[in-house]
Amino acid sequence: MMARPEPVSDAKIDAGEDTVRKQMRVLLIEDDRMVGAAVVQALRDAAYAVDWVADGASALEAAEAETYDLALLDLGLPVHDGREVLQRLRQNGRTLPVIVVTARDGVDDRIDGLDLGADDYMVKPFEIRELLARIRAVLRRPGSGAPPLLSNGIISLDPATHEAHRDGETSRLTAREFALLQALLTRPGAILSRSDLERHIYGWNEEVESNAIEFLIHAIRRKIGPSAIRNVRGVGWMVDRAS
Ligand code: CA
Repeated sequence: MMARPEPVSDAKIDAGEDTVRKQMRVLLIEDDRMVGAAVVQALRDAAYAVDWVADGASALEAAEAETYDLALLDLGLPVHDGREVLQRLRQNGRTLPVIVVTARDGVDDRIDGLDLGADDYMVKPFEIRELLARIRAVLRRPGSGAPPLLSNGIISLDPATHEAHRDGETSRLTAREFALLQALLTRPGAILSRSDLERHIYGWNEEVESNAIEFLIHAIRRKIGPSAIRNVRGVGWMVDRAS
């Protein structure tokens, strides 16, 4: 049975301190089930999309296969430990921001992690609120900021405000509506399938209700006009390319 996806309310998006303007995608690398589950829940509540892996090999595969805005990396991991994961990520030239999260609290571990290219360091046990604050701080740094205005000449979308503009009208989108429209506007003229869109909006282990994408598209069309997103029957959805 598919669970209803957790609604992300406008109220939550407007919550000030914990606001996430763009649907950021986080890779959580953590082998402790309880810590992992708690962090996943907290991140989703703060409107991040989260993929969770529990060993170093899966982490490297995931970082290769997907584009993430940030990784949370536990140091004590099976297969390749966190230090090795970080080293390999940096050797491959990845600039993915990494926050090392670990139970080890020795000064040496801390310095090691930072030397290997971690962007920040958290020692367990930590307060989720502090983790969220550090994530926001890392994401605010130059190079990891929100992307510029997206537009196909008809609709434009502002990642800083989650506002969509069309014909002089402005509509505020929820985090998931924004993530969906962002996926389409990144490639105007390209048809994105249901699974393309789901992958953009939800984390791997998040269950998605079968009509979740239709539901979001319906909501976006009500805000910015029925012709804003075109359905290509049996294939997917698209926005028109600028003419
Ligand atoms: Ca561990």
